[in-house]
Amino acid sequence: MSISVKESVITPKKSVVCPTDSSAATQPLTHYTRYKVYTQRQLQQIEALQALSPEQRFEMEVVANVLPFRVNEYVINELIDWDNIPADPIFQLTFPQRGMIEPADFDRMADLVRRDAQRKEITQLAGEIHQRLNPHPAGQQEMNVPLFQGEPLGGMQHKYRETVLFFPSQGQVCHSYCTFCFRWAQFVGNTELRFASHEAEKLHGYLRAHQEVTDLLFTGGDPMVMRTRHWENYLEPFLAPDLEHVQTIRIGTKSLSFWPQRYVYDEDADDLLRLLERLVKAGKHIAFMAHFNHWQEMQTPVVREAIRRIRDTGAVIRAQAPLINHINNDPAVWARMWREQVQLGLIPYYLFVERDTGAKRYFEVPLARTHEVYQQAIQQVSGLARTVRGPSMSAGPGKVEIQGISEINGEKVFVLRFIQGRNPDWVQKPFFAQYDPHATWFDDLKPAFGAQKFFFTDEYAAMAGDGEVIY
Ligand code: SF4
Repeated sequence: MSISVKESVITPKKSVVCPTDSSAATQPLTHYTRYKVYTQRQLQQIEALQALSPEQRFEMEVVANVLPFRVNEYVINELIDWDNIPADPIFQLTFPQRGMIEPADFDRMADLVRRDAQRKEITQLAGEIHQRLNPHPAGQQEMNVPLFQGEPLGGMQHKYRETVLFFPSQGQVCHSYCTFCFRWAQFVGNTELRFASHEAEKLHGYLRAHQEVTDLLFTGGDPMVMRTRHWENYLEPFLAPDLEHVQTIRIGTKSLSFWPQRYVYDEDADDLLRLLERLVKAGKHIAFMAHFNHWQEMQTPVVREAIRRIRDTGAVIRAQAPLINHINNDPAVWARMWREQVQLGLIPYYLFVERDTGAKRYFEVPLARTHEVYQQAIQQVSGLARTVRGPSMSAGPGKVEIQGISEINGEKVFVLRFIQGRNPDWVQKPFFAQYDPHATWFDDLKPAFGAQKFFFTDEYAAMAGDGEVIY
């Protein structure tokens, strides 16, 4: 399937037996094998929305002029419970809501939409609003771009010694868009905000010159929108001895949720699976970093068949997601999701804190609550599901985990540690921040015990070059 192919009809071939849901076992595989996508321009054509009031539909249209919107028929018809609108978590995950932008911005955009203003005027206002939504959290564009033969490689990031992130240019969209996405800026048409690389050769050349890199992460957008022939171009060179040091290839994807047909019915699905199998047989560790926000995304027969087929190649599927208000701010949701993931053979991996960007005013959850949800959820599951790390913040200096809330010498504190750090020496060193019930992100935190700065502050400021610390 290519994202540019809007519709391709493939007849369902078989039934599937689901390992955890006996009622689903008798259902045929989904008939939504036609990839049909709706964007802001087609929002009003979505049949299911006709049940909403004109006011609700208008609000969605206003917000969709600011934040990216894209949804496909599989999500609309199989993942959303339309009897539970607007609370349904997948509706919240994919459809714009009024509270996602500031009231003043909403009113200004509503005015333009009401008077049917020219696209240029709408785009200009949207651009102005975007600049207030922190489009580059954690200094991604400035600090992590590697150099190769003296030139910056724009479609890559090398933030941690052993891991390189690669943004293939063909994978910079997604099968649907998540309303909370921290990469929203690259979907709103501003090319300056995009990360992408056309150049497989540069990627391979850079990695040949960097023997310390053991892990490569393909990310996007969603790289699984790419056709298999692109994957072959990127991945086959890893079968050769000169890239033997790259042992793990991770693929960050939400395709299992938004388009599991990618692994079952798309015309090049089998070729993709065979490619993965060859890499596994050659000794590579292939890890899907699957993004599931809610157990509701894992109930259809087709997603379960996709999981089965991927696991059959020898690839491992790890599951991760941020904790998001209106979607999964509930320990019971996480506990059920992790339990079902283990049952399906997935490894629960990360619970992230919602990032400080985009529609965060609508989605953010205080760190104290995020920790409470994590703790209460993990207490409900067996050891096999306690592989989840978190709550974790991908901040400028590194990946910071909230280990707990404690009282030390009469002061209430957050206990923190680096899971990953710009300096590997920072990893696993506990450090402490003043407890703040309203803090929602790392840069809201202040050092505990009267300290002026954290142990890494000066070193990180020096790395940032101009001394400006971006968390
Ligand atoms: S699938 Fe990932 S990259 Fe795409 S919109 Fe969702 S969170 Fe963002």
